[in-house]
Amino acid sequence: MQIKLDWKVSLILRRMKIICIGRNYVNHAKELGNEIPTEPLFFLKPDTAIQPKGHPFFIPDFSDNIHFEVELVVKIDKIGKHIEECFAHKYYSKIGLGIDFTARDIQEQCKAEGLPWEKAKGFDGSAQISRTFIDKSELDLNNISFRLEKNGEEVQKGNSSEMLFNFDKIITYISKFYTLKIGDLIYTGTPAGVAKVIAGETLKGFIADKEMFKVVVK
Ligand code: ZN
Repeated sequence: MQIKLDWKVSLILRRMKIICIGRNYVNHAKELGNEIPTEPLFFLKPDTAIQPKGHPFFIPDFSDNIHFEVELVVKIDKIGKHIEECFAHKYYSKIGLGIDFTARDIQEQCKAEGLPWEKAKGFDGSAQISRTFIDKSELDLNNISFRLEKNGEEVQKGNSSEMLFNFDKIITYISKFYTLKIGDLIYTGTPAGVAKVIAGETLKGFIADKEMFKVVVK
């Protein structure tokens, strides 16, 4: 295969990363028996974790306990590093909704052995993302309600007001370590109610009453 001279430039421009915040809702940290963090806890998913739009979620054969975690997602639209909290709002304009699918059995094993979580969090299809994003001018960022329905029944419900670290604090913290780029997605943590997915279920995510995504589990 021929590689163009500008391959490096195009890679830098095109590739994005997915950053996920853990334990950002007290009720979820408690349901898993975790400590309440004093600073944001984050991990990465590779870009290949993104679920193609409209595709079902296939339960991978390496896990017997895949959990859904519905989360508000911030899309970065300006490159930045060492972003001050008072300027953080300039780095994003849209909010979406996603599921951070997690192989809980593998994660528990990694945690017990003091190993990184990526195997449990970054597998193909583990990042469900809404088709559309909502312009932040249409939202009260400190009061965004969202929920997940399983087969029409509410299983998770959250509000951005319950986040330990709000969008701006998260961006400020992450940008101390990583340069944020246009197109990067930040999954901002899940509220209580996470549970195992079973083949045949349909999961629907909502911000307020707007349906953001629908995914069938297979
Ligand atoms: Zn999560």
